[in-house]
Amino acid sequence: MHSYAEAAAAVTAARSVAVVGHVRPDADAIGSVCATVGALRQLGKEAVGLIGQTWPYAENLRTIPGAEEVQLVEELPDVDLIITVDCGSIDRTGRLAGAIAARVEDTLVIDHHASNVGFGAVNLLDFQAESTTTILGRLFEELGVELDLPIAHALYAGLLTDTGSFRWGRPEMHTYAARLMETGLDVRAIAVDLLDANSLADLRMIGRALASVEIHEAGGRRLALIVADQELVSSGSLPAVEGLVDFVRTVEGTDLGAVFKESAPDFWHVSLRSVDMDVSRLAVALGGGGHIPAAGYSAHGTAEDITDALLAELRRQ
Ligand code: 5GP
Ligand code: MN
Repeated sequence: MHSYAEAAAAVTAARSVAVVGHVRPDADAIGSVCATVGALRQLGKEAVGLIGQTWPYAENLRTIPGAEEVQLVEELPDVDLIITVDCGSIDRTGRLAGAIAARVEDTLVIDHHASNVGFGAVNLLDFQAESTTTILGRLFEELGVELDLPIAHALYAGLLTDTGSFRWGRPEMHTYAARLMETGLDVRAIAVDLLDANSLADLRMIGRALASVEIHEAGGRRLALIVADQELVSSGSLPAVEGLVDFVRTVEGTDLGAVFKESAPDFWHVSLRSVDMDVSRLAVALGGGGHIPAAGYSAHGTAEDITDALLAELRRQ
């Protein structure tokens, strides 16, 4: 692990930078990419924001200033420095993973996932940080970056969503939010854009999904589960589908919530959430990763196959 001064030195030494967020980006990933690109340009550097996937990501993330410019790519441009943000492991950089692995000596990793082993030459990791944008705020201070409105907006986007709208985090998260708000942010509009925008089709999709919640028991744990097949997933927007997990984790008398989202026939992304157990251990065992309260993984098979696999892992742990 490296210090803020060492991370700042790596940034200062670079002239051109590629900033890479994780695939299936969330607001912390896009917010971190956009804020970092903005900060680097303020420092007079050439900077580009990248996501290593070819399919589009959630529309509502485009409300983050600079998101329109973030490129969906399979190749790394010729730059002095690569900065990965909010990527817990190198595979989270998606199609760029191979190219980054070949240039680790030029890679600065900035992240808050506890499972991050530090896959760069310089690793700015803080596992207590609520969001990657929290870490960036301090790094920008070190670099003398001025918190302008677009940068503050992008940083706030990651803080807002990764704290579950300030439900969890350290006391400092509020101090940090206050500092960002003092730049003149319209926090109400940002919350609507990122969390509260549902179409009629979304509400109907959510209704069908919620009506289908199943409760399973394994290893003394009770699991609330939604199986969202391709038909259901495609009937709503991406943010609405990603939001389903915030409902299943609330079922009284359960220990964890899971949503299986089928993105291609028999290919699923699984989201896990819990308030009292470590779901990152489950996710890691099933080939994914994440945080203690929120984690995920991908899996092949029928809904029954992957339900059985999750229940078997619950029993084993
Ligand atoms: P979500 O359920 O919102 O997709 O992800 C929850 C958390 O788990 C996020 O912090 C995300 O970074 C992590 N996560 C989700 N899917 C994967 C995965 O396939 N691999 C890894 N390593 N982490 C994941
Ligand atoms: Mn994050």
